[in-house]
Amino acid sequence: MAKKTVFDLDVKGKRVLVRVDFNVPIKEGKITNDNRIVSALPTINYLIEHGAKIILLSHLGKVDHKDPVKCEENKKKNNMAPVAVRLQELVNTKVTFVNQTRGAELEEAVKNLNDGEIVLMQNTRYEKGESKNDPELAKYWASLGDLFVTDAFGSVHRAHASTVGIAEILPSALGFLVQKEVECLSAAIDNPKRPLVAILGGAKVSDKIAVIENLLKIADKVIIGGGMSYTFAKALGRNIGTSLLEEDKIELAKEFLEKGKDKLILPVDTNCANDFDNPTEIKVFEGDIPDDFMGLDIGPKTIELFKKELEGAKTVVWNGPMGVFENPTFAVGTIEICKAISELPGAMTVIGGGDSASAAINLGFKDKFTHISTGGGASLEYMEGKVLPGIAIIQEKD
Ligand code: ADP
Ligand code: MG
Repeated sequence: MAKKTVFDLDVKGKRVLVRVDFNVPIKEGKITNDNRIVSALPTINYLIEHGAKIILLSHLGKVDHKDPVKCEENKKKNNMAPVAVRLQELVNTKVTFVNQTRGAELEEAVKNLNDGEIVLMQNTRYEKGESKNDPELAKYWASLGDLFVTDAFGSVHRAHASTVGIAEILPSALGFLVQKEVECLSAAIDNPKRPLVAILGGAKVSDKIAVIENLLKIADKVIIGGGMSYTFAKALGRNIGTSLLEEDKIELAKEFLEKGKDKLILPVDTNCANDFDNPTEIKVFEGDIPDDFMGLDIGPKTIELFKKELEGAKTVVWNGPMGVFENPTFAVGTIEICKAISELPGAMTVIGGGDSASAAINLGFKDKFTHISTGGGASLEYMEGKVLPGIAIIQEKD
């Protein structure tokens, strides 16, 4: 069964609550990157064109409700007002900002909405009950609308009042952004064209245990690079010098090696430096890494090996950079793997994970993948095989 989408709703003249992701970076009251607002426009414009009365909800940053001083500071910093100003520049309709998350002013603004107009309410996290999915809060917000649309993929792994609570009460559907995420991730993870090759990297094994576990189950090959590969190398009895190591995960790495057998592919050489912050000597080592060197990227033979393993893949799922890509000297492995994936003929290619997505985008591969997920944590949880509560709660098509 498929989830309902905005197309399945009759929105004309209806009050439609839309959970968007307007969690944009703001410095001294100025938005420094409006990408997330722009990304929400397809759903918003569809609703404008189809005469909905649109009520937008989003969180912005974090609000600490335990410490009253911090709470006030956080609220001041994470005020949604600048977002409304930018949104008004981007849409062809009236945007009313309400500096409230509940109350008479908000209710009045909703009542005064004409078809195709927008109300944006203050940051949902001004409410203590938001993150706890407080049923009273969800009921109140639901009372402001007739329908609910979820379009904030980065928040669907959290069961909050604005993501799950409202959807428990109102008829609901996926917005276009979330629909695309679900379609692509599902095509890669739940129903992949084979062979499915997973490439995992990044800093730590401990962050990715569940991802490795699930992908070992479903993928035809699991390639491991990046910082986490040294714990695996250690488990194989190799010397890894001063490279990133998680002592307490060596046993787990052994288990994965045993379970994965030939499926699991590890680096054969490493680009190393004598120091992380101030590298004066940079060298490639095959197999063992000397005591005073640290692995910071995969080596040239590994790049060739990984390329070979990728050949013929029909689906590729990638999470975690192959090296410390933030430093151009150690970005080569990540760039080469990005290139190899993007040049695979006829393959469905999906990137999940916050740093992996920004690595691919910063290195110039934005349009070279089938899909780069916008939700770091949510895409990771999807790859772990977890149910995302903000999607699970959305109604199925009739
Ligand atoms: P994602 O956010 O996509 O899930 P991670 O957060 O797991 O990815 O990993 C990204 C980080 O891993 C990057 O900051 C990168 O510098 C780091 N990293 C990759 N390779 C290494 C390495 N060899 N040593 C130390 N850190 C590494
Ligand atoms: Mg990360």
